[in-house]
Amino acid sequence: MALSRESRVDLHIHSNASDGTHSPKELVQEAVENNIGLMALTDHDEIENIEEVKSLTKEKGIAFLPGIEISSTFQDKLYHILAYGTDNGNKELMKLIDHNKHMLNKRNDDSIKYLIEKGYEIDLSEYEKYEYDKRKGGWKSLSFLIEKGICRDVGDYFNRLFYKQKTILFPEFSSTEIVVRTIKNAGGIPILAHPYYEKDNTSIPEKLSRFIDIGIEGVECFHPNHSYDIINKCLEWCKAKGIIITAGSDFHGGFIETRRMGIPEAKIKDINLGDLESKIIY
Ligand SMILES: [Zn+2]
Ligand SMILES: [Zn+2]
Repeated sequence: MALSRESRVDLHIHSNASDGTHSPKELVQEAVENNIGLMALTDHDEIENIEEVKSLTKEKGIAFLPGIEISSTFQDKLYHILAYGTDNGNKELMKLIDHNKHMLNKRNDDSIKYLIEKGYEIDLSEYEKYEYDKRKGGWKSLSFLIEKGICRDVGDYFNRLFYKQKTILFPEFSSTEIVVRTIKNAGGIPILAHPYYEKDNTSIPEKLSRFIDIGIEGVECFHPNHSYDIINKCLEWCKAKGIIITAGSDFHGGFIETRRMGIPEAKIKDINLGDLESKIIY
């Protein structure tokens, strides 16, 4: 199906290859039900479901943009970079995401060890043998702690259990400069995901220009964590600069129930695909 100015877009979606709950089939079905004309798959440091989603979208007549959401560190903070249209046979890129996956696994182990040190009654060998049900979304340590009754949900995990230990939850990933360069060397287009995910008083020009200076080619202006005011100001800034503008729901299925596919609502006419256009698979 050809895209028109009125086609709905969602360029930030997670499957059960990372922390979402939906299988490729369920994701594409969800996209059909929400009348999405162009969708991307952007699992955290993972490419496992890309081929399957690609063939399913083709079957259903949905345009598809393959992506990866890559964790990076910039000025001591975690930033997610959306990499679209990369050559996933690229060794340097695969090494980078393998490193990030290793860091995420280590985070699981470190968080359990931290709780044991704090006096929680947890059997480390039981945890090590534990295999979590990917259909519930999230990650290993979170699932285990919920099953053991030590943690209620993802909010409880971040806000109570590890409130004082953010460094465990956000280990130092590769620098954003390296991530951007690696994406480009793999033929991909790096876009800054949700620049205002958390409350941050840095002005939009100040924040966004730092990323453009290191090679970011566009900004995810539409994101559920952005207020309308932030969305509009990001749009205005990106339009003036002529850079790529994207929109994403950061859909995780039942893992984050407040998010809906295609929300915040955006159509082709609301964004600026720029060079991303050449990466779309029909
Ligand atoms: Zn993210
Ligand atoms: Zn995401």
